Amino acid sequence: MTTPNVRITVSNHFDTDILIIGAGPAGAAAAYHLAKQGHDVTLIDKQKFPRDKVCGDFVGPVALLELKNLGITRWQDYQDTNIVRRASLYLDGKQLISEMIPTIPGLPAFGRVIPRKQLDSWIVQVAKEAGVSVLEEHQLVAFSTDSGSVTAELRHEKTRRRFRARAIIGADGSHSLVARQLRGKKTANKDRIVAVRAYYDGVAGEADEAELYFSGESFPGYYWLFPTGKGQANVGVGMVLETVPRTDDGLKQLLKNLIARDPVLSSRLAHAQLANKIIGWPLNTYNPRLPLTADRILLTGDAAGLINPLNGEGIQYAMLSGRWAAEALHTALINNRLERPALFAYEQRVQKELRYDMALAGMIVQLIRNRILNPVWLKALELIATRARVDPDYAAITGGVLAGLIPASSVISRKVIDGTVQQAVMSLGLRTAFNTVYKPKNTLLAGIDTTRTGLDMALKSFRHTGGSLAWGLGVAIEAAELAGQILIDLGDNSNKTHHPVQITDPVRSYTE
Ligand SMILES: Cc1cc2nc3c(=O)[nH]c(=O)nc-3n(C[C@H](O)[C@H](O)[C@H](O)COP(=O)(O)OP(=O)(O)OC[C@H]3O[C@@H](n4cnc5c(N)ncnc54)[C@H](O)[C@@H]3O)c2cc1C
Repeated sequence: MTTPNVRITVSNHFDTDILIIGAGPAGAAAAYHLAKQGHDVTLIDKQKFPRDKVCGDFVGPVALLELKNLGITRWQDYQDTNIVRRASLYLDGKQLISEMIPTIPGLPAFGRVIPRKQLDSWIVQVAKEAGVSVLEEHQLVAFSTDSGSVTAELRHEKTRRRFRARAIIGADGSHSLVARQLRGKKTANKDRIVAVRAYYDGVAGEADEAELYFSGESFPGYYWLFPTGKGQANVGVGMVLETVPRTDDGLKQLLKNLIARDPVLSSRLAHAQLANKIIGWPLNTYNPRLPLTADRILLTGDAAGLINPLNGEGIQYAMLSGRWAAEALHTALINNRLERPALFAYEQRVQKELRYDMALAGMIVQLIRNRILNPVWLKALELIATRARVDPDYAAITGGVLAGLIPASSVISRKVIDGTVQQAVMSLGLRTAFNTVYKPKNTLLAGIDTTRTGLDMALKSFRHTGGSLAWGLGVAIEAAELAGQILIDLGDNSNKTHHPVQITDPVRSYTE
């Protein structure tokens, strides 16, 4: 059967080999890489492109390298986008640190701020040019799998149609229908961050500098100003959804309050005008206990929870996971094996390349979730920044981890642990948790001990603060997860380096 929009596929029984739901960076990148390998791919999105996506628009060096591999960095429109070379961190209006984006071999020493309306349509365009069939304004409303196929029900305007494929990729973002069906439940609140953003015109200050702000009001979370160039900027705030105790402030109101009260941000926006509405969207963080694959199904990007909860970055993980899913599917299609064991290579790859970053970030986020301890966490942040100002190596490592450039395993180094983080954290009685990181050889014992510390904290805080048992248990679980990841790594001799780009891409020096 042929429709004007759909290509005839390799088999009369299928409308397409691979059906990809969602044409954001994850889905469009996966589609591009599969089509380049000669596969028949259909990419659907419920929206019409170019479309907006609520985001901070900061595209870090790792994502820029992925864009380069797609051929996009040669385009004039891309080269006209705003470059950011410096990041500054403020706490309660005081500059803690201002550093150039660290230089990593093979990566650009800068990021770009690219409005998603542009970025996402570029990736869709290269996917189309690679041979992908793109169906816009097509929404997945249901799907089912059997032993030989996936049947999807798609809604387009007022019509519904069935679509048969050999496998499906869920790249349908943080409200993913594919993930919900695969996992049998919605994303838990504890795995969610909420964020809002707005564009401003007439912004004062340097265009090549991204600014991150922390304050007691916004913690656990941060607010940002990312210049898009020509006096425009993306301004927003993000916060862990489930905090102890809970915060009732609406994020839109919080952003307005922060803009009015923060001395640095308010001076940059003193003569600026809000260009459009403040809009919010959730982010899902990674939960290693949830599957990323099932028979004929893979999850990528936000649908898989691939967000760095420390900095909210997800574009790089969306593009990387799209490519990794495509590579695993390519092998699976050649072998004509699309059951979960054949797709599991993808899940293992995500684990192997991102596990430290996600486990460490998960642990930190679980700790800072407790707003009762806000003054302590903010003090720790100040100590980290103070140390970073006097120790360039320490600054490069902590800044690189925060920016998602350096694997979190780098913090298992004397340089970082001997720094002020240790002092700050030790003072909290979390000695065991950080010993886990400090002395990975003792990891198993330390992991057990850390879990005990978490339980101990859970019981104490339950008694003293009335009800934060879940928080302490969460600390125990996340600490055990982190210890477990270190343990896996110690036993894994093949994994000499953890940086995703260094593992997968031979590029050493970067040119656009
Ligand atoms: C406020 C905010 C600020 C952020 N700032 C940054 C930042 O500065 N830098 C960064 O790297 N990351 C940032 N992120 C995270 C980043 O936006 C995401 O990680 C990224 O968009 C993930 O890409 P994706 O392709 O997985 O999903 P998405 O970009 O969300 O794309 C999903 C697509 O699926 C489509 N879709 C959904 N359901 C269906 C359906 N049923 N049928 C058909 N199509 C469907 C949607 O229309 C959408 O186009 C931010 C997020 C938020 C909310």
